Amino acid sequence: MRPREKSTELYASSREEFNNEPVVFCKHCLSLAIRVIDREDEDLDYCDHCGSTDLGKTDIETWEFMYKQRILKKL
Ligand SMILES: [Zn+2]
Repeated sequence: MRPREKSTELYASSREEFNNEPVVFCKHCLSLAIRVIDREDEDLDYCDHCGSTDLGKTDIETWEFMYKQRILKKL
């Protein structure tokens, strides 16, 4: 038994799960501040920042990449 290794393994797998967790973002302004109107009906959700209903779903790493690209374009 090597408990130390085991806990590292657990930490790594939970971290991976976090990265794979989908995030809903606004395709218009890339905001993650999405207002959920009805949990059953995702079509009703809208961006709390700009009011757009054009939303996308991705993982946090992809979103971060897109967000950085957006910031770089603005500069
Ligand atoms: Zn927006």
